[in-house]
Amino acid sequence: MRSTAPDGLWPRVRAALNWINLSTPLGLAVARFGGATPERHERGTWIAGGYRWPVPVASAFTVGNVVCSRHDVEWLRARPELLAHEDRHCSQYAACLGPAMVPLYLASAGLSWVVTGDHASLNPFERLAGLVSGGYPPPRPPRWRRRVHHLDRLAAM
Ligand SMILES: [Zn+2]
Repeated sequence: MRSTAPDGLWPRVRAALNWINLSTPLGLAVARFGGATPERHERGTWIAGGYRWPVPVASAFTVGNVVCSRHDVEWLRARPELLAHEDRHCSQYAACLGPAMVPLYLASAGLSWVVTGDHASLNPFERLAGLVSGGYPPPRPPRWRRRVHHLDRLAAM
């Protein structure tokens, strides 16, 4: 049987930090209240399929060491790149003092949306976790740069 204990120093430290900063207990509570069933996964994480609340709008999201999804756990297990992306978010929770990451993430996502029109392009949390592995398109330039490019093209006609 595969071990689910965190192996390696960083996953152990991260698992401990995310318990102490309460982000993992919060993630387990969010999963349970959302109707998902958390299961132990690798590197001290949990995966929880069957999440039913309408927010957040994402195929998967992470709170502490808990990865939640509207899909079932088999869908998640079949996407190792996405799980690697969400694993990086687990590390971000440890680095951001746990639940404090939620307002920081939302502020970053909002600023990215205002500047580029999507919540990931300028969001350092998503960029550091990997846009491609998270299923995001390549980063978009700021809205005003796109307008300039558009005018350049019109001027060249
Ligand atoms: Zn992400």
